[in-house]
Amino acid sequence: MRLSRYFLPTLKETPAEAQIASHRLMLRAGMIRQGAAGIYSWLPLGHRVLRKIENIVREEQDRAGAFEVLMPTIQSSDLWVESGRYDDYGKEMLRIEDRHGRKMLYGPTNEEMITDIFRREVKSYKDLPKNLYHIQWKFRDEIRPRFGVMRGREFLMKDAYSFDLDTESAVRSYNAMFVAYLRTFARLGVRAIPMRADTGPIGGDLSHEFIVLAETGESEVFFDQGFNDFDPMATQPESGTDLQPIVDQWTSLYAATEEMHDPSKAAKTSDRLVQGRGIEVGHIFFFGDKYSKPMKAEVQNAEGASVAVQMGSYGIGVSRLAGAIIEASHDANGIIWPESVAPFKVGLMNLTPKDADCTKACDQLYSDLCKAGVEVLFDDRAVGAGAKFANMDLIGLPWQIALGSRGIKNGIAELKNRATGEKQEVDLATIVAKLAN
Ligand code: ATP
Ligand code: MG
Repeated sequence: MRLSRYFLPTLKETPAEAQIASHRLMLRAGMIRQGAAGIYSWLPLGHRVLRKIENIVREEQDRAGAFEVLMPTIQSSDLWVESGRYDDYGKEMLRIEDRHGRKMLYGPTNEEMITDIFRREVKSYKDLPKNLYHIQWKFRDEIRPRFGVMRGREFLMKDAYSFDLDTESAVRSYNAMFVAYLRTFARLGVRAIPMRADTGPIGGDLSHEFIVLAETGESEVFFDQGFNDFDPMATQPESGTDLQPIVDQWTSLYAATEEMHDPSKAAKTSDRLVQGRGIEVGHIFFFGDKYSKPMKAEVQNAEGASVAVQMGSYGIGVSRLAGAIIEASHDANGIIWPESVAPFKVGLMNLTPKDADCTKACDQLYSDLCKAGVEVLFDDRAVGAGAKFANMDLIGLPWQIALGSRGIKNGIAELKNRATGEKQEVDLATIVAKLAN
């Protein structure tokens, strides 16, 4: 992409309305713009990031055996009356009336709708287990939308719903999602710590939240210090690599953390206990027949008896993650994208656009990188080198190539790693191969 033709409205000034780094940087890097409180448009750069996060989430849901569907954003109130949540949900639900006076709502979540789809089609235990998910916009009329996309009113969520015949099988479905979440966050380049979550007054249910560590996070967490030693950027796996070692490592760190929370064992392990703050990016929940019972989502078991199915739901805050990743990975100059979600892998800068030779070499390099399948943003604008460097650091692409008159003469470009700041001189003849793998 040529920056001269792109739509990238970056800001030099720090927007006054933004209180935390990720919100400031998303505005400054031209990723988002606010429409109304907690409601955002995603501009091209932000949209690319959102799609990349979404695709990793999708690949890991598919891999875990869940099937993608797409349910509407607008729902009828009927199903919510049936489940008993229409009144319970309160003011966070945006209630809408259509022209015929029918009560509708903008979905804050989809348990009712998916339960209805399921109960109409599935009648036998032989069709279980099933897990259906979608990636769709939600609306919650948050009392205090803040921190940009982190606590929006309209936000993109992946929500999956599992259906099983009995508890034992439901726990297997739950565990499969737990592992899928570990894999997803590892691929996203974030350290998301699984924490056992409160299951409310009923208890007995199973629930975990996944928390990305960040000073500005709204959740307080206590965890094994081993999580701190893990560098998600350094270990960030490519798609297709074996994630099992990471999953094993995280499962054992999680077990260690669990032990610390166990009062009978806590004393022995407490010196490894670390306190921190974090952002909830995922939440998984096993809730049994909470919806299947009132909504009569029943199947015939092997003995021919009708039983309510055992359900779980599994959320990931896709749009929140864009902010959370930045919150966990930035410096004073801007964003530092993990490669897997970076809007472009490489930023190419023509430092001397007035020099015809340099421009020619940059054009050639740009075209070679594109041909090699490297996603590259080419700053070909007629502005000063200082502004280009600052802009590249701000938008945080993992690799920067700077090419100017002096380098051209020696056949050399400067390659900078945004995360480490490390710079190296690279032969123009080898730079494409170096970045293509
Ligand atoms: P929170 O405690 O942050 O309000 P929640 O527990 O109400 O979240 P869930 O119902 O568990 O949220 O939704 C699943 C995921 O959706 C959350 O883990 C979070 O990542 C994301 N999410 C929830 N509310 C918002 C919001 N207002 N803006 C952006 N993402 C959100
Ligand atoms: Mg939650």
